Amino acid sequence: MAVMDVRAPDRTERPTARDLEVRGVVQGVGFRPFVWRLATRHGISGWVRNRSGVVEIHAEGPEPALEAFCAAISAEAPPLARVEDVRWSSGPVLDLSGFEVDRSLSEPGGDRLVSPDVATCPACLSELFDPNDRRYRYPFINCTDCGPRFTIIESLPYDRERTSMRAFPLCEDCRREYLDPSNRRFHAEPVACPACGPTLELRDAGWRPVDGDPIVEAASLLRRGGIVAVKGLGGFHLACDATNDRVVHALRVRKERPDKPFAVMVADVEQARELFELTPEEIALLASPAAPIVLVRDLGRLAPSVAPGHRRQGAMLPSTPLHHLLLREAGVPLVMTSGNRSEEPICTGNEEARERLSGVADAFLVHDREIVSRYDDSVAHVWRGGPALLRRARSFAPSPLELPARVRPTLGTGAMLNGTFCLASGTRAFLSQHIGDLDTEEAMRAYADALDRYRSVFGLDPEVVAHDLHPDFATTRFAEETGLPRLAVQHHHAHIASVMAEHGLGGPVIGVAVDGFGLGEDGTIWGGEFLVCDWGRAERLGHLRTVRQPGGDAAVRHPWRMALAHAADAGCLGEARSLMPERDDEVGVVSGQIRSGLASPLTSSMGRLFDAVSALAWVCREATYEGQPAMLLEQAAEPADAPGYPVRMDLLDGRLIVDTRPIVAGVVQDLRGGVPVGRVSWRFHRSVAQAIELACARIRSSTGLDRVCLGGGVFQNALLVDEAVGRLEALGFSVFVPQQVPAGDGGIALGQVLVAHARMGGEG
Ligand code: ZN
Ligand code: ZN
Ligand code: FE
Repeated sequence: MAVMDVRAPDRTERPTARDLEVRGVVQGVGFRPFVWRLATRHGISGWVRNRSGVVEIHAEGPEPALEAFCAAISAEAPPLARVEDVRWSSGPVLDLSGFEVDRSLSEPGGDRLVSPDVATCPACLSELFDPNDRRYRYPFINCTDCGPRFTIIESLPYDRERTSMRAFPLCEDCRREYLDPSNRRFHAEPVACPACGPTLELRDAGWRPVDGDPIVEAASLLRRGGIVAVKGLGGFHLACDATNDRVVHALRVRKERPDKPFAVMVADVEQARELFELTPEEIALLASPAAPIVLVRDLGRLAPSVAPGHRRQGAMLPSTPLHHLLLREAGVPLVMTSGNRSEEPICTGNEEARERLSGVADAFLVHDREIVSRYDDSVAHVWRGGPALLRRARSFAPSPLELPARVRPTLGTGAMLNGTFCLASGTRAFLSQHIGDLDTEEAMRAYADALDRYRSVFGLDPEVVAHDLHPDFATTRFAEETGLPRLAVQHHHAHIASVMAEHGLGGPVIGVAVDGFGLGEDGTIWGGEFLVCDWGRAERLGHLRTVRQPGGDAAVRHPWRMALAHAADAGCLGEARSLMPERDDEVGVVSGQIRSGLASPLTSSMGRLFDAVSALAWVCREATYEGQPAMLLEQAAEPADAPGYPVRMDLLDGRLIVDTRPIVAGVVQDLRGGVPVGRVSWRFHRSVAQAIELACARIRSSTGLDRVCLGGGVFQNALLVDEAVGRLEALGFSVFVPQQVPAGDGGIALGQVLVAHARMGGEG
């Protein structure tokens, strides 16, 4: 089938025929209707059909028309499609009349790709608000260019009967549109209308139906300061008025989420401009078909409890017709946070929401279309004019990532926080959506469910499994329980391999992996690592100076403990104590732990160094969510013309040790001298960037390597990335930064797959 026809083209008007196969993201994106329109335009007869992820076409017509038809398939593909390959061979001339769209043929195996969910398109949006349209204010309007996809798909090929729309037989009007090749809903599998599709209803806190228009009633409740659980695309949100501090605060109490910022949904770009300072790139990302949460600069017009202490705010535009209706009706920006308590997985089912969100929501805006796959919102920010994903979920997963090597079917189980897995085969890697912190049984059930769905939808059965080196991660135990051949991958090696995979790099490269915590090969905690990596190997050439982490995990929740540990190491414990008078009672115990090492492992973590500085500066002394001290410290920074603190490197047993002591001593001295926190934070960021620069320069002089990959959760810090990349580029390094794949532990699973491939003797 892959062989090109080499016979001389027949230029007469006698019809010839071609059989084509089109591969890529070609299902659920309006591809067959597009082919029909092309065929009609070029006077081609034949048929098109889906076969397990491949679009097959039989085309008959005069040779020049066929030629033009084939060229247009990739040149004019619909916006959401990604045509990776078009192959054709001569076929039998069947003298067909007309062009038909066939029903899908279901066959096992085959090459399967499916589009992620897509935010409501402009054409559907204008119908939604057109009083003369039969779908006026219908919350489930969609077409071939937009609407739910992976969240409703049970298996491939993508056809209505294999989605949760199966429960809604088409009415006559919808069927006509569905079957009319000139209609923009031609073969739109989730097509629906008020006569035949899902319906919306509002239930009160006691699950009793509320009379009236559900949108109007829900919006009115929201305006009056209520909290409403809203069933969205990939799960429930909890919504409330983002300008009403009292209700936002109540939501924090009920959801048991004291400080972590809430995302805010705004009606449209105009409302976004009133609330946030936006660059054109940020506006484009907000309004893109993926409609992710975008971190943007806040103008201070929202309730203070929305994102306490933050200058940046997670904003998003409506991604479904239901959200559009609700936002317009409410007239105020709405907090839209995952429908869960604390860090549990997001609720998807009506019964589940009723149970788990009772006592949290005052009402439930629900519908009867089942959510097949659980999806949180994606989170991104703009870096150097383009999007960089911090959380990869709705509308991004399960788009495949292209690996730089052909791998056998492999599962990477990821790490523990921000859990994802990666299922890969050949050069395709399906990195799962963000599932949440995998430290509860419930979260691991959601993880296993998602994996089952990926295995069946993509027809992939792993032969090997890669997991983190940490024996106690639930994902490591999960890997053990598969019974497959397995391989442990060091956490920071996986971080760098993930960046190499994303950018298609072979080794060796210099890897700078900075995060909160990952088990090292020597049994200590790593997190400020300078590595030389290729896919199969990582050599630790340098790291941050190690200090005690007093009380282990307790130091993560109480960053002031790290402040004491770093200050003690730097010889300025007394001065540091004077900055934290409120901790005087506890200092004795913690100092004892630091001296004796009791329950206080050694760590080289960059995340913990940020914690220490954040606590010393009184930006954050108690943390209630992951990364809080570092995020707040970043946002406290006031760019100035001030230099960094002194950076020194030592060589110890052939390894480069970044001496953190002069940095910490400088921070303490500045703070005691009354230097403003914004300036201290700025100087600190510069010192860290300078340490990265110096370490990379030293490694280049001994290895000759000039490509640097930056990985690990600390690189979600845009200020640090800017500063570090700028310095490295000025020295002539090529620098690679995670963009499509999260820098943090959500990207680890991808790297694990590549490492496993190389270690098991795979070729590049
Ligand atoms: Zn649409
Ligand atoms: Zn209908
Ligand atoms: Fe990490």
